[in-house]
Amino acid sequence: WKNAPPSLRAIALAGRTHGDSEFVVYEDERVTFDGWFRAVATLAHHLQELGVRKGDRVALAMRNLPEWPVAFFAATSIGAIIVPLNAWWTSAELTYGLSDSGAKVLICDDERWERIAPHAGELPGLERALVSRAATPLSPPASALEDLIGTPPDYTSLPPRELPDVSILPDDDATIFYTSGTTGMPKGALGTHRNITTNVLSGAYAVACAALRRGEVPPEPVKKTGLVVIPLFHVTACSASLMGSVVAGNRAVYMYRWDPEKAFAIIEREKVNATGGVPTIAWQLLDHPARDRFDLSSIESIAYGGAPAAPELVRRIHAEFGALPSNGYGMTETMATVTSHSSEDYLNRPDSCGHPVAVVDIKITGEDGETELPPGEVGEIWVRGPQVVKGYWNKPEETAECFIEGWVRTGDLGRMDEEGFLFIVDRAKDMIIRGGENIYSCEVENVLYDHPAVSDAALVGLPHPTLGEEPAAVVYLAPGKTASEAELQAWVGERLARFKVPVRIGFSPETLPRNANGKILKGELQHLLDGATEKATTGE
Ligand code: ATP
Ligand code: MG
Repeated sequence: WKNAPPSLRAIALAGRTHGDSEFVVYEDERVTFDGWFRAVATLAHHLQELGVRKGDRVALAMRNLPEWPVAFFAATSIGAIIVPLNAWWTSAELTYGLSDSGAKVLICDDERWERIAPHAGELPGLERALVSRAATPLSPPASALEDLIGTPPDYTSLPPRELPDVSILPDDDATIFYTSGTTGMPKGALGTHRNITTNVLSGAYAVACAALRRGEVPPEPVKKTGLVVIPLFHVTACSASLMGSVVAGNRAVYMYRWDPEKAFAIIEREKVNATGGVPTIAWQLLDHPARDRFDLSSIESIAYGGAPAAPELVRRIHAEFGALPSNGYGMTETMATVTSHSSEDYLNRPDSCGHPVAVVDIKITGEDGETELPPGEVGEIWVRGPQVVKGYWNKPEETAECFIEGWVRTGDLGRMDEEGFLFIVDRAKDMIIRGGENIYSCEVENVLYDHPAVSDAALVGLPHPTLGEEPAAVVYLAPGKTASEAELQAWVGERLARFKVPVRIGFSPETLPRNANGKILKGELQHLLDGATEKATTGE
């Protein structure tokens, strides 16, 4: 394998060299890099025996179990396209993912199979389901597709094997990750081996680049323990946490379900150095009352991306955990990381999401989608680089609309400062235009987050007969804290122009609804603002 291509297969081979050190910890299961690699090679051969060939789709539907990285690398190492499906999806959504991708083989856990099995007959292309953790007979009764894998798989008893000999080129298709579906139906982003490996390598190099820019010597890589709390079926977790671990030999602790108190116990027991995922996770770690009962001193960094992070979060992580926060901006279409932000750079510019990683170009365009805007002006962000995917699977129209001459249009609005730091201000679809004045959600949300009682905040537009739209907000107050609508409006009014002050503020009894990637589902907030249109005024 000396001539191995720069592909996921090569990353799997690299991972093997970490030998007997621990790779994944999940409850009382501990899998070494060697055990994982044996399982990858065994499953890769098994998939070939089942008739899986280059370009065939292998769907993967499970929670963060140790089998996830086995299936991911087994399928991609034989040139198949892995299709990680959202484990939170319902039967209908999982069936959509399987039928949209045309999966030939499905690898899933027993819970997902319970949801999929009743619809397996509607999927003529699906030839086999490998169901893991199925200790008891499944209901409905096992279909002919099933191939039960024991629970949990015993990796150590597997014989050492080589990966099957398959030629893979960097531009061969490797992955179909679905977008989060925040603005519509989730779309499958078709990624190549080059896309995802570029991302892993440029992600690893980003910290060194930031240090060099500040005139410092980059830190030596040290093996770390990470607590992976966001689902691996999102490209961020897969590329940053999983791939990063395989390359660097880091240990990853998986959780079945996010639970801050269990996370504290794991951090203490496993001496976890890094965690995060999305900003909500960081907020919950900070605000949870059980926090003080645990020794969390091993935590060195809390990294997140995928959704806007308020500057208040940056300050609190640094002050209360003594840890370094870091932020990354990206999207499924760019295999995650486009910009990266950490250490002093982030502490000094907590409202930015950082510098573009070394291999990407970013441009900010005006409303015509072509004219490039100078630093400081807000426009749509476009991204070009070796990690931008080919397009959407099965969606030629959407592909033609968003992928233009090597660039992908992100649908995000932002600005770049003179030093090349990027600031995201809103999604184009969420921006509120009040009588011709643009109001960017992040700016108003960040001011609300700064209020000591506010724990969660979202800005939404309310229809208005003459102004078009007016800003309104929904907030969730931290347990035990109080604040009135008038008080919060005054707070915003003291800090921002009058037209940006929410004309109505609704109070949510719980944290705001989010999808699996931590993004607030703004369409689900309207009921908390009922009757608000009557209150709208014709202000300046
Ligand atoms: P869909 O495209 O299906 O509507 P989605 O855009 O939420 O869903 P993802 O690809 O998971 O799907 O998310 C990418 C988006 O998340 C970006 O376009 C941006 O709006 C947002 N985002 C990602 N990282 C950050 C960040 N660090 N700060 C602010 N927003 C971010
Ligand atoms: Mg999107």
